[in-house]
Amino acid sequence: MTGQPLPLVFDEPRGRRKPPRHLADLALDERVRLLADNGLPGFRAKQLSAHYFTRLADDPEQMTDLPAGQRDQLVSTLLPELMTPLSVSEADRGTTRKTLWRLFDGALVESVLMRYPDRVTMCVSSQAGCGMACPFCATGQGGLQRNMSTAEIVEQVLAGARALERGEVPGGLGRVNNVVFMGMGEPLANYRAVVGAVRRLTEPGPSGYGMSARGVTVSTVGLVPRINQLAEEGVPVTLALSLHAPDDELRNDLVPINTRWSVDEAVDAAWNYARATKRRVSIEYAMMRDINDQAWRADLLADVLNARGDWGWVHVNLIPLNEVPGSRFTRSRDEDTEEFVRRLEAKGVPTTVRDTRGSEIDAACGQLAASER
Ligand code: SAH
Repeated sequence: MTGQPLPLVFDEPRGRRKPPRHLADLALDERVRLLADNGLPGFRAKQLSAHYFTRLADDPEQMTDLPAGQRDQLVSTLLPELMTPLSVSEADRGTTRKTLWRLFDGALVESVLMRYPDRVTMCVSSQAGCGMACPFCATGQGGLQRNMSTAEIVEQVLAGARALERGEVPGGLGRVNNVVFMGMGEPLANYRAVVGAVRRLTEPGPSGYGMSARGVTVSTVGLVPRINQLAEEGVPVTLALSLHAPDDELRNDLVPINTRWSVDEAVDAAWNYARATKRRVSIEYAMMRDINDQAWRADLLADVLNARGDWGWVHVNLIPLNEVPGSRFTRSRDEDTEEFVRRLEAKGVPTTVRDTRGSEIDAACGQLAASER
């Protein structure tokens, strides 16, 4: 011992601190253990979990089954505040709601609630920013700030669930039926936290939110090893592959990770996912005028998909491009989109065109930039 002060190796650099640990980060038995480690009764974990996931409570004052003397400590151990809503923008008479969140370290993310006549979909972020640098996507222009924690991902969904349960969304009381990882970030680049969030959302209460894994869609640029890992994970979510071009030459520009995993490799992984999980894969294709919307590319896309089999393993979801300010990419003409659909369907590929909900509040695909204006 030299008597010198120890280097502060336990202090992470500022901005690299971890998000507060929350019960949604942990399986139920881990919550019990964490309380015990803090000298608190383990059985309270179940009560706290039921407040969070089943009763959708977020006000500790209402958790009257917790002993008043312990309540603060229980809540700060398992239910710390994770994020603050900075603003809510609404469209479609309040049935589309985008929330801008500030996370504990100042990072900003957005989530979008979309209510349809028969269901509610939450579009959530998995990273603050994104490192994939797709040139047509607003999120991709700012780079990656950091991965989100499992609880930060889950909390976006639970915030929507609470708003629905409190009647704050027009259309009566409701639940979240679908979760799509199509907000900010590349979910498979934050694999562990995303799979953790899927588990929490699909586990029955009080352990989790109890929604169906069939209602969850993970959208990816095509991180092939992670797609293969997800196929073995035992969480049968729907996979969406952001293809956007059927040929490497163009896809190298539109989805830069293509220089690492090519069209063929990404489509093979998607096919393998469909085979392993028996879940139909969705191919996303943002329609960009005179870039990727030529009729011959529709034919080529159909051939690329059909080469893996025609047993209904895939469908194509065309996304009318949402134009990002300052971007050279513009939306396809309607007649080109219609011809693209005709060509795909003529070759037997089921095709849909996504609606552009939320574009007027910059809440549609690719528009989430999370800026404080
Ligand atoms: N990182 C994931 C999730 C991204 S958002 C992924 O790439 O799949 C979901 C979808 O929106 C992706 O298919 C993405 O390519 C698409 N997208 C991005 N920018 C867009 C834009 N300006 N218009 C339409 N779709 C866009």
